Amino acid sequence: MVVLTKKKRKLKKGVYKFLVLLIIVGLLGYSGIKLYKDYKYKQTYEYKLLQHGYKLEEVKILEKNFDNKRLDWLLSVPKNKTVLNLLKEKYYIANKLDDYLAYEKENANLSLTEIVLKVNTLTNYDFYEHTIESDISKGILLNCNKYYRLPEDYVPEDLVTINTNYAFGTRQATKETVDAYINMWNAAKENGIHLMVNSAYRSYSDQEAVYNSYKAKNGEAYADKYAARPGHSEHQTGLSLDIFSIDNTSTKTFENSAAYAWLKDNAHKYGFILRYSKDKENITGYSFEAWHYRYVGVEAATKVYEDDITYDEYYAYYIEK
Ligand SMILES: [Zn+2]
Repeated sequence: MVVLTKKKRKLKKGVYKFLVLLIIVGLLGYSGIKLYKDYKYKQTYEYKLLQHGYKLEEVKILEKNFDNKRLDWLLSVPKNKTVLNLLKEKYYIANKLDDYLAYEKENANLSLTEIVLKVNTLTNYDFYEHTIESDISKGILLNCNKYYRLPEDYVPEDLVTINTNYAFGTRQATKETVDAYINMWNAAKENGIHLMVNSAYRSYSDQEAVYNSYKAKNGEAYADKYAARPGHSEHQTGLSLDIFSIDNTSTKTFENSAAYAWLKDNAHKYGFILRYSKDKENITGYSFEAWHYRYVGVEAATKVYEDDITYDEYYAYYIEK
């Protein structure tokens, strides 16, 4: 009996020692893992950005929007509120961030909305100062303005002549544009409005002749104000129509006509946009033209109409991006 008790005691001691050892090993392991986890966390951008002064919600936004290279850059400069505010801009385009920041630095008086708008539409450059060839692979969505130019030999493939019921004289535009225009013409007619096109497709050489005659007579500044340079006229796309009504073809009074009132709020349903809106000259490069409509298809036209933006803004954000 005595022997057995001694054995039992020894056994109990053994178990006890073993448990203590287990607890020690467990604690060491636990704190080791904790130390390792801490070490790992300190390597993360979340930790580094928090240390750099960003709030957790800001860190989440930055990590969601930026790659490691950009995050490293953010850590190398003082906390940058401009970057966070730019991300909130409706028409922010990720690959233009460097341009926004550079332009903002030089133009601290402008709001970030203006910075984004100008950089997106290239109007941070003067008209014709920075020109790029139009991407004609975009089809009916291509852009042509004082920055985007069409190649000299660009002629739309499917030009058709508009029946003289719908146009003054012989006018041409792409088939899709003409079909959409006739749909619109019929809808307008049902509302007592008789639309008439009085200018449509214009070739590069036609535009060159117009521009050069203005320039010869009154100089380059005058020519640039009233005519597009060759390659920069939207009429060369075959997608633009100057639309008046049978009883009003005046560029002075057309904006007061019932036809304009109807076009303004209905053209988008047929795929057309008023291309040179009121008070948007600084973006489009043209003063208000109540008669110049551009075919872009119903989807794009509706978006441009609903967002109340120029096609230049639309193109940058929705097409080119
Ligand atoms: Zn026009």
